[in-house]
Amino acid sequence: MTYILAIDQGTTSSRAILFDGDMKIREVAQQEFPQHFPSSGWVEHDPEDIWGTVLSTCRDVISKALLNPSDVVAIGITNQRETTLVWDRETGEPIHRAIVWQDRRTAGICEELRAAGHEEEVTAKTGLLLDPYFSGTKLKWLLDNVDGARERAEAGELLFGTVDCYLIWKLTGGKVHATDATNASRTLLYNIHSGGWSRMMCELLNIPVAMLPEVRDCAADYGETDPEIFGESIPILGVAGDQQAATIGQACFEAGMMKSTYGTGCFALLNTGDTAVTSRNRLLTTIAYQFGGKPTYAIEGSIFIAGAVVQWLRDGLKIIDAAPESQALAETADPSQQVIVVPAFTGLGAPYWEPECRGAIFGLTRNSGPAEIARAALESVGFQTRDLLEAMRADWPNASEAGVLRVDGGMTANDWAMQFLSDIIGAPVDRPEILETTALGAAWLAGMEAGLYPDRAGFAETWARERRFEPALDDARRDERYEAWKRAVQAAISA
Ligand code: ADP
Repeated sequence: MTYILAIDQGTTSSRAILFDGDMKIREVAQQEFPQHFPSSGWVEHDPEDIWGTVLSTCRDVISKALLNPSDVVAIGITNQRETTLVWDRETGEPIHRAIVWQDRRTAGICEELRAAGHEEEVTAKTGLLLDPYFSGTKLKWLLDNVDGARERAEAGELLFGTVDCYLIWKLTGGKVHATDATNASRTLLYNIHSGGWSRMMCELLNIPVAMLPEVRDCAADYGETDPEIFGESIPILGVAGDQQAATIGQACFEAGMMKSTYGTGCFALLNTGDTAVTSRNRLLTTIAYQFGGKPTYAIEGSIFIAGAVVQWLRDGLKIIDAAPESQALAETADPSQQVIVVPAFTGLGAPYWEPECRGAIFGLTRNSGPAEIARAALESVGFQTRDLLEAMRADWPNASEAGVLRVDGGMTANDWAMQFLSDIIGAPVDRPEILETTALGAAWLAGMEAGLYPDRAGFAETWARERRFEPALDDARRDERYEAWKRAVQAAISA
């Protein structure tokens, strides 16, 4: 038997997942690592922790499955996106801790660029917004603030990379400095239309082009692991950022197909095929995947608080002991009450973009209790998804054809929430048998490139539905509920 090793390097933990020749999970290892918050709004990871946990989880799954490293035919990598690293080309020594995607320290740089009128051209080139979220301003901050960094970068001594790129560099013993098109498309430095680093963006942010990695397809030769690492060299053949890997793992390969991942937050991606749709609703244009040098685009929208609202029921309100209990509690809610929770705990993302807005509860009566609040909390995830879909439809009329929403992530275990989601978007919601779509996407890329797994069409056929949720709410009621949500959001914004 031969295997594919998927590395899923996430924000709070690293995981290694071993898939067999039939794309079934054989073994999983996971390790959390520390988060560093050196200042308000700053979030950092130690590169040694990222690398150390990846290495030990990979070694772990191989030994737990009692395999020889030679049984692993290829490695696929998926990763937390946008997180920014800079290291020395010769010694491999990072010049600073990694600046994590959540880090807001470059808000001022973004604000200055916006005030100088640059946002439109930035969006036109990169598909993104001037927001600290993306790598470009984080890289600029490192070059401007770490002693001697700019001089060293200009002398060609330093390399930049997102997490995938850093892992490839470490795994290949410093031989390969490359990233894939999906990760590149999140840097704010990449021209998603022409498919190369943008000279304009590099000049705007004062980034030496020589420190940027080579950009390759998602399924491509990324070199072989240094034989010292696993005792054998293993080729790295697949790379995609986490949300793109989930889109691939959900086999959303046709224009109009859409996936939504419900973890702590929620990320929805709509495949728009060859067309890079520029959003008028402040959604992002991104590369969904790239094969044979040809990018396929997506519109991406995110919700900050999805599963996190269930964590709030548990840890904040303490009305449940564990996330799954939210379902039973919501089921007992009084159907005549119309409680609405707007979970704007950290502001509102797409399509409102109201960073100062805070959460609110509407429609309370003397009879409102934990059940009504739990139900409203679960409903808020459906309402916010509908907001994203409305924005996507406004940006790309073909999106209205998009029939079905494929879902994954921890919160999709909640049948009640998935039924409400289907009711309120008025479309079927499909939950797949394999919920590990991110790792599956990375594994499939590598396995397909290795010739072990089927091609795109064949893989799409293997996608299997565990359950479909069909909308059961009539149109008038659906519109009424959604209108009430929109009024509640406006009230929260103006409060
Ligand atoms: P992440 O990758 O962001 O850590 P996961 O995909 O592991 O997230 O999903 C965890 C989230 O899903 C948590 O926020 C949790 O509250 C929520 N969750 C897990 N199970 C359920 C459930 N049965 N009902 C509602 N929410 C759930």
